[in-house]
Amino acid sequence: MSKPASVEHDEQTYTDGGSDEIPAVDIEQFRIQDQAAYARNVAGDNVVLVFDTTLRDGEQSPGATLHIQEKLEIAQQLARLGVDIMEAGFPAASPGDLEAVRRIANTVGCKPRRGKQGEVAAPPVIAGLARANKHDIDKAWEAVQGAVRPRIHTFLATSDIHMEHKLRMSRDEVLETVGDMVQYARSLCSDVEFSPEDGGRSDPEFLVKVLEIAIQAGATTLNIPDTVGFTTPEEYGALIHYLRENTPGGKDVIFSCHCHNDLGLATANTLAGVQNGARQIEVTINGIGERAGNTSLEETVMALHVRPQTYHLDSNIITQEIHRASDMVSRYTGMVIQPNKAIVGANAFAHEAGIHQDGMLKHKRTYEIMDASTIGLNTSKLVLGKHSGKHAGQKAGEHGLSPEP
Ligand SMILES: [Zn+2]
Repeated sequence: MSKPASVEHDEQTYTDGGSDEIPAVDIEQFRIQDQAAYARNVAGDNVVLVFDTTLRDGEQSPGATLHIQEKLEIAQQLARLGVDIMEAGFPAASPGDLEAVRRIANTVGCKPRRGKQGEVAAPPVIAGLARANKHDIDKAWEAVQGAVRPRIHTFLATSDIHMEHKLRMSRDEVLETVGDMVQYARSLCSDVEFSPEDGGRSDPEFLVKVLEIAIQAGATTLNIPDTVGFTTPEEYGALIHYLRENTPGGKDVIFSCHCHNDLGLATANTLAGVQNGARQIEVTINGIGERAGNTSLEETVMALHVRPQTYHLDSNIITQEIHRASDMVSRYTGMVIQPNKAIVGANAFAHEAGIHQDGMLKHKRTYEIMDASTIGLNTSKLVLGKHSGKHAGQKAGEHGLSPEP
């Protein structure tokens, strides 16, 4: 899918900053002084941090290239949405990528915002991705260091198939490189995240050794990628559980889920991860990303929101900003959202069958588990089609539902 040549950017829709009026505050108060203590608190709490990678993994979707101005606008909307961390790009990939990350770090990454309760909240952490080598890590640091809360996210593959065929490295060489490069990143930046790439297909016992070394070298977030979207919810949940239990120091750091949707299981896998102690989820708006995409932000966040008795977990996301973020990402990337996509598809709050419409008119909860307004849409829609009854249209207006021909 390629992007249309002239994408209409509706300035009115996206640049109104009315809700962004923030009283002047000292930005220094938002720096994290003790990263280890911060990570320990998050790991033991019931709030899941949302790490949005729309601008990095999402932008790797075929045909989804974004211009720097579009990236900045999306970053502003992600901040408004309340994401805790945004991965703004892969600075070593090109000078343009580095510049985009740098500009996001120096603007969005330095600006306090409104939190969920209307309070003045810290700017998001701005992360830059780096392979486990000094050159990439230097570029990532160059790009993110202007943010109040910068993070270097470095990764190295740990599955036998990747180590043998892609890296051509032995297990011992991988262990040594992880230790050296996490330590190097940590010498520049107090907040370092490490990912064993293809973690979902790695030997769990070897992963424990890799993660132990990463923790010793100073990583405070350990992200477990199911890079190829191969695992099932039971397997992925069990892997997170095993790694947290068996890695020395594992309970004092933040475990993170990063899943791909090749089997349509990304959201289920991510939720299995948080049920097993992960406290960061790596997600994208509309689930865009390599191949079949990443875990979708809106699906996981709304699952936590709609089913608190099941998950007992919260997020800092301002759900009313979901629709706007989704619409913006779809337009700027040129990636159309399938109509039946959960939460953000055009039909997600539309009802056509007569029996459903009749129920909706009597009581909205008969066929809706959440209000359209929760994600920032005005109303649900009753679609007048061949499956509708006669009186649905006239009655709809009286009930605050909008009939659509
Ligand atoms: Zn990925």
